[in-house]
Amino acid sequence: IVDDVTGTSLPYPEVDFEDPASVRAVFFALGADGTVSANKNTIKIIGEETPLYAQGYFVYDSKKSGSRTVSHLRFGPNPLNKPYLVRRANFVGIHQWGFLERLPMLDVAEEGATVLLNSPYPTEEVWDRLPKPVQEEILRKKLKVYVVNAYDLARQVGLPGRINTIMQAAFFKLSGVLPEEEAKARIKKGIEKSYGKRGKTVLERNFQAVELGFEAVEPLPIPGRITSEKELVPPMVDHPPAFVREVLGPIALGLGDALPVSAFPPDGTYPTGTARYEKRGIAEFVPTWDPKVCVQCGKCVLVCPHAVIRAKVVPEEALAGAPEGFPHRKAMWKELSGEFTLAISPDDCTGCTLCVEACPAKDKTNPSRKALNMAPRLEVREEMNRHWDFFLSLPETPRAGLKLHTVKDVQLLEPLFEFPGACAGCGETPYLRLLSQLFGDRLIVANATGCSSIYGGNLPTTPWSKNKEGRGPAWANSLFEDNAEFGLGMRLALDKKAEYARKLLPGFREVLGEELLARLLKPVGPEEVEARRQDVALLRERLGGLEDPRARDLLAVADALIPHSVWIVGGDGWAYDIGYGGLDHVLSSGANVKVLVLDTEVYSNTGGQASKATGLGAVAKFATAGKATPKKDLAFMAMSYGHVYVAQIAMGANDAHTVKAFLEAEAHQGPALLIAYSHCIAHGIDMAKG
Ligand code: SF4
Ligand code: SF4
Repeated sequence: IVDDVTGTSLPYPEVDFEDPASVRAVFFALGADGTVSANKNTIKIIGEETPLYAQGYFVYDSKKSGSRTVSHLRFGPNPLNKPYLVRRANFVGIHQWGFLERLPMLDVAEEGATVLLNSPYPTEEVWDRLPKPVQEEILRKKLKVYVVNAYDLARQVGLPGRINTIMQAAFFKLSGVLPEEEAKARIKKGIEKSYGKRGKTVLERNFQAVELGFEAVEPLPIPGRITSEKELVPPMVDHPPAFVREVLGPIALGLGDALPVSAFPPDGTYPTGTARYEKRGIAEFVPTWDPKVCVQCGKCVLVCPHAVIRAKVVPEEALAGAPEGFPHRKAMWKELSGEFTLAISPDDCTGCTLCVEACPAKDKTNPSRKALNMAPRLEVREEMNRHWDFFLSLPETPRAGLKLHTVKDVQLLEPLFEFPGACAGCGETPYLRLLSQLFGDRLIVANATGCSSIYGGNLPTTPWSKNKEGRGPAWANSLFEDNAEFGLGMRLALDKKAEYARKLLPGFREVLGEELLARLLKPVGPEEVEARRQDVALLRERLGGLEDPRARDLLAVADALIPHSVWIVGGDGWAYDIGYGGLDHVLSSGANVKVLVLDTEVYSNTGGQASKATGLGAVAKFATAGKATPKKDLAFMAMSYGHVYVAQIAMGANDAHTVKAFLEAEAHQGPALLIAYSHCIAHGIDMAKG
């Protein structure tokens, strides 16, 4: 750490302690693609079955699955007393092509190192498709590059997306740590141990993947000259502000440790709306939209966990200047006229297919096709990106006049929670996006620790966003055990500020005028928020030049006169277990706070341990034989107070009910509790069917 604030860090020389006799391998992969497990298994095979020493370190970024993982492995004949990451690798595995276009992956490779590349392109096309800096580094360091299309092979054997076994087999083949047949036998033994319980078919598919991994890997012919003009894509794109470019960018590249302490905000406050600058490009396939088949229901927009698919109704003239092929169709609304358009950001999509599953519209001429159909991202992304950029430049559909209790109209609201680093197909994030669409420009969120604090507020970027006026949710995370109290504190602070403002207001009767004063003193509901904002702006204008300290006080608290919506958000581990005492206390207080429990029925963030929300008989960690006690009835407990609005919702089961419950909870003058069933990768289900 370079501490240029206290000046207490010491300079140190770069020293190379690596043992030349060792294999030093670094693997870059996508979270949840199985690479880390496969590498742990590799360490076991080599450490236990050969005379070699073995060591591994695993580095994860702050995203949930779908993130970048870096495995640092060492094997060698000499003891490995190396408590640090590999800095000079003689083997580099790049398991995700998209990384190669953005990250300097070959920096770690030493001269003559072997590089294993998972490529979606045929071997003969690979060289020309590499970015120029990658080609340069391969030539300069005389790297030996090998290629395998692991995604294709994984699909062939019936394990789509699970490239780990294929890449592990390819590593053993290229590294030569073990004789080929012995390596195959050992990997298969490891597979039996890991997947034995999942049945014969899964085992056989993995065995087949091992064979294919050994067979299919082939050397990349290197022409000896640069043929590419493509530069690396910067980590933050679309004109990022300086802080995003200079601080968040290096963190996204995994170079955060190199930033000096002075680069970070001293009070820990980070700008919102920064996830939009980080295009991860992790989906192999993305949905494409057919406007002729679409019935404009909005179900796809509602279920998308990453706010990647969006809809607008715009005046026809707004489409002048649209890029070629920009899809749109006459809006099918009684109350709205204009053109309906739906856009998808291919480089933010995770390819989860939830939107396609949710889409009810089938093509009558070809029932195998819907209004949304998956297509290879690399083939469609350029055109889709052009369409997406134009879509973002279109005006938002005016909120006034929309029927907010309908899914069809809610789809048209701008999301102020976008592109979270949640798992592909996450069941939690659609609720948060909906929350941000409904109340986002006056929303304050107290977030318990858990998945939602990781994808919601971890570095480098934040998905909580803001609209063109610069308004959006304010968000903070406290501890696991005090989140309800944390949110209650926010509510009480806002109420106190509003009370103080109302106390000061009559002192400025003359400056403000009777009418404005009367309006500002009147309590307002959600439908009058815009009018109140204008009145507060007038107040600022009229008090702006005054030297009076009371005027300064009033200006400091004036925003509290605008109704804010305070939501306390967390998972079941927080609400049912660790934070329950506080939650109960807050609900009993009668304060006007809203509680959203993202109920996955297990501790998702730590790998699926049973919570008190886990159902009777359900199998989870710490309940491997099935949970012996039933799910705690949190809803009934809250209802027993009589003054708490309580709803249990499940977007996948009833989306209209979900939207209605959010609106009712917000409208209730008192505490409200929404228990939102959320599917999760910890359930071991096909997430597309969530
Ligand atoms: S595939 Fe998943 S992430 Fe992509 S647009 Fe559809 S729902 Fe959103
Ligand atoms: S779910 Fe299908 S029919 Fe409905 S808006 Fe989306 S694409 Fe159109």
